[in-house]
Amino acid sequence: MPVIGFGTWNLPNDERGERAVQTALASGYRLIDTAAIYRNEEMVGRAVRSSGLKRGEIFVTTKLFPSQFLAPLRAFDQSLARLGLDYVDLYLIHWPVGAARQGIWRKLEGLVEAGRAKSIGVSNYSADLTRQLLESAQVQPVVNQIGVTPFKYPRELIKFCREHKIIVQAYSPLAQGRELGNSLIQKLAEKYHKTSTQIMIRWSLQHGLVPLPKASSDAHIKENIAAFDFEIDADGMAVLDGAGQWA
Ligand code: NAP
Repeated sequence: MPVIGFGTWNLPNDERGERAVQTALASGYRLIDTAAIYRNEEMVGRAVRSSGLKRGEIFVTTKLFPSQFLAPLRAFDQSLARLGLDYVDLYLIHWPVGAARQGIWRKLEGLVEAGRAKSIGVSNYSADLTRQLLESAQVQPVVNQIGVTPFKYPRELIKFCREHKIIVQAYSPLAQGRELGNSLIQKLAEKYHKTSTQIMIRWSLQHGLVPLPKASSDAHIKENIAAFDFEIDADGMAVLDGAGQWA
């Protein structure tokens, strides 16, 4: 799995969204995160197919929304059809709502066995819910996709996932743009001659999380992936780890 991904929530299902995903792929992102509920799988699929990259070079994630829980396999088929792809790399249960989750998981395991989803995982799962799933799962969840930033840093859940070999993907890693002016972030940005978004993404990478920043403009998309040529020192990481105390 690539170490960083491109988020697509709120990108429109038209040529503007498609262009953003194309720019992301041309800039080096190789993981594209979408979901049935984003209603933009078509444009993601078009961008992937027209990228000039081989399908195997791109990691595509989509998600099953609770409103689709009654018919998960039909929902998967519909996602795949909208994407115009033969398989997805990762299929996630988007939110742990409702009672019938174990039965749903069994159905998703069938998708892995059939090679239609290379792997399956969960999103917004607590440690307790993940533990329950692990007890009955035949195919292990490879990912828990959760909201993580220096301001919302669920250490215990991350530790739990790591102990169970579950990769944590960090959604909303830029706090949806709300903390870019925060003085802790800005001080580090000045120190490293980087931008606020690069500091937040770098923090996530150094914690071994897979950040999924979303951006619309070419400039933002390119800026966000330029986070691999510097390292935040231990003091800086400690400051960021504690940022939630001041938020
Ligand atoms: P985010 O990535 O934390 O932040 C996106 C916001 O930051 C947008 O308003 C964007 O503006 C702005 N931004 C991006 N780069 C910037 C830059 N360089 N300078 C200034 N502003 C910048 O928020 P998110 O979309 O909530 O989360 C990212 C992805 O995670 C989603 O797109 C989705 O794929 C996933 N997600 C998953 C779940 C889940 O339940 N599993 C929930 C939320 C999100 P512009 O668009 O104008 O560039």
